[in-house]
Amino acid sequence: MPVADKSELYRRLPSVDEVLRLQQITDLTEREGHAAVAEAARAVLGRVREEIAAGRLNSSGVELAISGLPEAVERQLRQALQPSLRSVINASGVVLHTNLGRAPLAAAALDHLREVASTYSNLEFDIAKGERGKRDVHVERLFAQLFAACAPEPISTVVVNNNAAAVLLGLNSLAEGGEVVVSRGELVEIGGSFRIPEVMAKSGAFLREVGTTNRTRIADYSRAISEKTRLLLRVHRSNFQITGFTEQPALSELVELGRKRGIPVMEDLGSGALIDLRSVGISGEPGVADSLRARVDVVTYSGDKLLGGPQAGILSGRRELVARIRSNPLFRALRVDKLTYAALEATLLAYIRQDHDAIPALRMLRLPAQEIERRAQAVKQKLDKAGGLSLEILDGRSVVGGGAAPAATLPSRLLAVTCEGLSADEFAARLRSGEPPIVARVEEGRVLLDLRTVFPEQDELVARSLLAISSKHPST
Ligand SMILES: *Cc1c(COP(=O)(O)O)cnc(C)c1O
Repeated sequence: MPVADKSELYRRLPSVDEVLRLQQITDLTEREGHAAVAEAARAVLGRVREEIAAGRLNSSGVELAISGLPEAVERQLRQALQPSLRSVINASGVVLHTNLGRAPLAAAALDHLREVASTYSNLEFDIAKGERGKRDVHVERLFAQLFAACAPEPISTVVVNNNAAAVLLGLNSLAEGGEVVVSRGELVEIGGSFRIPEVMAKSGAFLREVGTTNRTRIADYSRAISEKTRLLLRVHRSNFQITGFTEQPALSELVELGRKRGIPVMEDLGSGALIDLRSVGISGEPGVADSLRARVDVVTYSGDKLLGGPQAGILSGRRELVARIRSNPLFRALRVDKLTYAALEATLLAYIRQDHDAIPALRMLRLPAQEIERRAQAVKQKLDKAGGLSLEILDGRSVVGGGAAPAATLPSRLLAVTCEGLSADEFAARLRSGEPPIVARVEEGRVLLDLRTVFPEQDELVARSLLAISSKHPST
């Protein structure tokens, strides 16, 4: 198309103001406001101009685009006014998936959050005395109750923004200007650029590495202790394993050494389960109670990993050390808001009532493979007659994720699906582009759906989404 023709096509396009004066558009402006509609009109006109520039629109194409402007603006506006953060269906079988928001909240947590956040609250107000109170009291009493049986002295707890903040705050409060002894096998990096040596540097404490990558003995810690030592740090290997020729002192040995030399022991536990994971068939994954029972002085863990609550970092331990942590000015900068306290308090109350199934992440972990199989069969039955799809139910494993050992997996039954005319990657992409998006695994040329992490009320949506994709790709 000659250049002159293009400029003639551009001239035919209305201006943004002209678009805004169209009857359909003025209705829209009344509802959604001038600024948003003008922005949408600008975006749509910009796209038409790009099409002309690329030579993809001729004279009649431009006429068609102009006649379709009101609808295009409305569509653009609807898209722009949709939140970007939205619900997805997690069919990956990874229960605590950091990219998918980790633990879904319990219904009771949402109710409490809504009630507390939609009105004023006693966040920092002592109702009985009518004076200023402390925001920590709401959850501290619950943690103390949950840990009452673990330790001879009462356990204190403070809550900050996330576990990375908890580790930073713990190190800064207990070891600033001094040395912290850590095994070389525990200088870990957790996803999202949390690295122990870097957090240590930011805390103002000095890292004193001991041992080797695969073997560290209690004597290594003992030799490294000097008048500069402030803390012995144990870091849970959340996302990797060291196997083979390995050695690591027991937590109790580290505690004993600390006691003997008058140096506190802090443990970054990461996931921080509040239930005994052996009860769901996962062994070798220590819980917060195990650490406190071993007399670790301070334990740090996340609120949204195995605890199953909101994002938070929790420091539990000996009263005088937690008091030092609480009086650190950095605590004020890292503290959490009423939304977090509300969600955490309701989640902890479920633990106190031993109503573990009220916590979605725990409910999913406890789901037996037969139950997952039953639901997979029900989905399969709905789709068996759909052309183009082929479905099979296989043995597989769900992954705990979120800083539980990589080997922490649970037996599951997976729905393996292929769709004629689509590669597994294309099929998975279609599932993600659905409403709501479905995130699945792709393995060996098929899409694998693990219903362990799908809420039962979402099974129907999964079936419908698969059906919709297959109907766009009929087998003949
Ligand atoms: C997950 C994890 C962290 C980081 O916790 P966030 O709550 O994501 O900040 C730190 N240390 C360990 C060992 C972890 O597993």
